[in-house]
Amino acid sequence: MRHNTLYIVVPCYNEEAVLPETARRLKAKLASLQQSGQIGPNSRVLFVDDGSKDATWSLISDLTAEDSHFGGLKLAHNAGHQFALLAGLTAAHGRADMVISLDADLQDDIEAIDDFVDAYHTGADVVYGVRSSRETDTRFKRGTAEAFYKLMGLLGADIVRNHADYRLLSARALAALLEFEEADLFLRGVVPLLGFNTATVPYVRHERFAGESKYPLKKMLAFALDGILSFSVQPLRLITGLGILIFVCSVIALFYLLILKLSGNTVEGWATLMGSIWAIGGIQLLCLGVTGEYVGRIYKQVKKRPRFIVEALTLTEKQEVSL
Ligand code: UDP
Ligand code: MG
Repeated sequence: MRHNTLYIVVPCYNEEAVLPETARRLKAKLASLQQSGQIGPNSRVLFVDDGSKDATWSLISDLTAEDSHFGGLKLAHNAGHQFALLAGLTAAHGRADMVISLDADLQDDIEAIDDFVDAYHTGADVVYGVRSSRETDTRFKRGTAEAFYKLMGLLGADIVRNHADYRLLSARALAALLEFEEADLFLRGVVPLLGFNTATVPYVRHERFAGESKYPLKKMLAFALDGILSFSVQPLRLITGLGILIFVCSVIALFYLLILKLSGNTVEGWATLMGSIWAIGGIQLLCLGVTGEYVGRIYKQVKKRPRFIVEALTLTEKQEVSL
């Protein structure tokens, strides 16, 4: 049997509405897994407060004070979901034999944790939770998600369909993940790059049981853009292709104009001229923009700013505590 200390890492941003219930359910889950011997007594739920403005941290502090199965990590500012998760994973590194990442709203079915841990014990280092249906999503979210996967597929990035950030990593997979120093982190793109033995566990995703989504449309689009730009240079190549295409067209047009000139028909439409100036101007700006997006990311990367800043970590390292 492999070593079996489990850390469940839960990023929380303004989650006071869901936290007490989430803590209650996760504690029950830890207890049942401990009873069946699948996980060890030092297993924990580690809540990461991602710079919340509500009572999230005080709730977490209360939980950690009354029960050593809960740990808390407070970030000094809102680092964003991916970095909050990374902060929690970094804290779990060296303490856990396996980590599971899970959203605070319990949209991801926690019953799947049993299967995750089973897969770990049968040798998997990376276990992906994959949604078996998207029925609880709005039509809009389903449509945009589908378009995103199609686009990522076309651009050649390898991501697991319908898998978000609900996954298990073994200690060595986690160590490998922490080697990546991406300033724009898109975990679901990085994890497939790790290799190792992988397994997938299907689960049904529920609706949030309280509180609101912390991913409004703007954040969702920014996240999708990070996914595309940090995993594919294909858009830059498309720009080159577009440039070549426009050049070839202009050469053809030049020949056409030459023929017109030679045949004496030189009075041509003003509209065509204006149209093409605007069209080409637009395309150039777009291409500059795409190139700029990459340059901006390089800029961020070379500055090597810390990706998150820890303000406090509460973890009671007591041995042999029972629930
Ligand atoms: N989250 C976070 N920092 C942020 C935004 C979100 O830690 O800046 C957390 C949030 O508390 C939740 C998870 O990331 O645990 C996923 O967010 P949410 O459930 O709001 O997204 P959705 O499920 O609607 O895509
Ligand atoms: Mg959610």
